Amino acid sequence: MKVGTLALQGDFREHLAVVEGLGHDGFEIRTPDELARVDALIIPGGESTTIGRLATIYGLMDPIRERIAAGMPVLGTCAGMIFLASGTTGVDQPQLGVLDVIVERNAFGRQVESFEADLRVVGLAEPMRAVFIRAPWIAKVGGDVEVLATVVDPGGGGDHPVVVRQDRILATSFHPELTDDDRLHAILIDLAEER
Ligand code: GLN
Repeated sequence: MKVGTLALQGDFREHLAVVEGLGHDGFEIRTPDELARVDALIIPGGESTTIGRLATIYGLMDPIRERIAAGMPVLGTCAGMIFLASGTTGVDQPQLGVLDVIVERNAFGRQVESFEADLRVVGLAEPMRAVFIRAPWIAKVGGDVEVLATVVDPGGGGDHPVVVRQDRILATSFHPELTDDDRLHAILIDLAEER
């Protein structure tokens, strides 16, 4: 499979390393032409406002929306999840609006901006070690969205969804590319192969 990673900002290289470790071809995506050539897309973590601003400048907003609407599988991690979502609890920013969730950015608070947790993810036999870095959580979930995992806020803010799926869109609040656990990337590639 040809798997693209949106390479405007953020940790796209780490995602490409996971894709290549699974024996597939990874591509950096910066133009609509490059996007047209891949079977699946990863949107990395980083800074969601920067990713949104650059995607607008590079003319990628509608081409990405169209490919996802046509069934291309996509995995968004952290800022990538924010970029896929339909809104945030804060001020407006450029978002694709293809994933029917509202996210709260930097939700885990100052004292615990970064932490790790072992998550039970629906469909995975063993727990997944999850690295959260100034991570969002999902504040509101639409009807077609399946919650695959939640985490208890170590800062005392309760239990919140952090892995969701809507059709072929997968999104995580954390960074699966920063551990050696490639199971979510493998699911993305399976979805591409099933098509
Ligand atoms: N805090 C970032 C944002 O709101 C996301 C952080 C990340 O991707 N690790 O865009």
